Amino acid sequence: MAVLLDGKSLAKRIESELAKKISALSSKPSLRVVFVGDNPASATYVGAKKKAAERVGIDSEILSFPSSIGQKELLLQIDKLNKDPSIDGILVQLPLPPGIDPGRVAMHIEAKKDVDGIHPLNLGKLLSGIETGLKPCTPLAIQALLMNAKIPIEGKRVVILGRSNIVGKPLAAMLMQKKQGANATVIVAHSLSENLPLITKEADILIAALGRPKWVGKEIVKENAVVIDVGIHRVGPKQLIGDVDFEEVSLIASHITPVPGGVGPMTIAMLLKNTYQAFCQKT
Ligand code: NAP
Repeated sequence: MAVLLDGKSLAKRIESELAKKISALSSKPSLRVVFVGDNPASATYVGAKKKAAERVGIDSEILSFPSSIGQKELLLQIDKLNKDPSIDGILVQLPLPPGIDPGRVAMHIEAKKDVDGIHPLNLGKLLSGIETGLKPCTPLAIQALLMNAKIPIEGKRVVILGRSNIVGKPLAAMLMQKKQGANATVIVAHSLSENLPLITKEADILIAALGRPKWVGKEIVKENAVVIDVGIHRVGPKQLIGDVDFEEVSLIASHITPVPGGVGPMTIAMLLKNTYQAFCQKT
C-alpha cells in the first residue's frame, strides 16, 4: 500500500509558520479574491481561501461580481486593486464566464500583486529561473509535497498529464530547473499525445492534471511510482474524487496524494505564502 502524501497536515504546518511570521509584522498583508459569477465549486474555493487567509492573519476579502460584468468592467475593477497600495495580492478565481478572456485578465493584474503566478512576467521569470517572481500555487504545492516527503526528483522521469497554463506548463518549468528540488527529466502529455500508457508507464513520478475523473488506473502506472493527483471532481453533494483511481493505484504506487487532502490544501497554503512574499517584496 502506498505511503500517503498528506497535504492537509503539511498545509497546517506551513500555515502555523506563516501565522508566526505575520504576527511579528507591524501591518497585515492583504489579499483580494475576485469572484465572477455563481459557480458553486468556485464559491467553495474562494470561501476556503478567505478562511485560510484569516487563520494566518492575512486581511482578505472576496469581491463578488455578477457574470454579466463583462471584460471591460472587470479590468477596471482590477485596475482599482492594482492602484490601491494597501493591497498586496490579487487572485481572480477561474473559470471566468464566457466572453471574458482569462489571458487578458492575467496580463492585467499587476505582476507584483499576482499571487496566482499567472502574469506573463511571472511565468517568464519562472522559465528563466529568476527567483523574485511569484510562482503558480498548484505547481508550488506539488513540489513542496515531493520535497517534504524527501522523494528524489533529480534525474527522475516526471510525466505530467495536462498542459494548462496554471498547472502543467509551469510545473514542467519548475521541475526541470537546474536547482535543488528539481533537475527532473520532464514529459508533458495532453489530449493529443499518442501511446499515453507507454509514456505514463515510464514515469517515476506521475502527475495527473487532466481533469478526467479516475482516468489514471493501475494499468498505466509503473510499479512503485509516485503519483500526484491534481484533479478535483464533485460526486453528489459531498464526495470529491480526483483524476486517479485511488483505490487501485494506491496498491501499486510507492506514494500517492489523496483527494481531498492532498494537492488542494497545499495549493491554498502556497497562495498564503505568495501573499506574504508579495507583501515582503513591496517593503
Ligand atoms: P485544463 O485547463 O482543463 O487542462 C486539462 C489538460 O489536460 C489539457 O492540457 C488537456 O489537453 C489535458 N487532457 C484532457 N484530457 C486528456 C486525456 N484524456 N489525456 C491526456 N491529457 C488530457 O485543467 P487544469 O486547470 O489544469 O486542471 C486540471 C484538473 O486539476 C481539474 O480537475 C481541476 O479542477 C484541477 N485543479 C485542481 C487544483 C487544486 O488545487 N487541487 C488546482 C487547479 C486545478 P489539451 O491541452 O490537449 O486539451
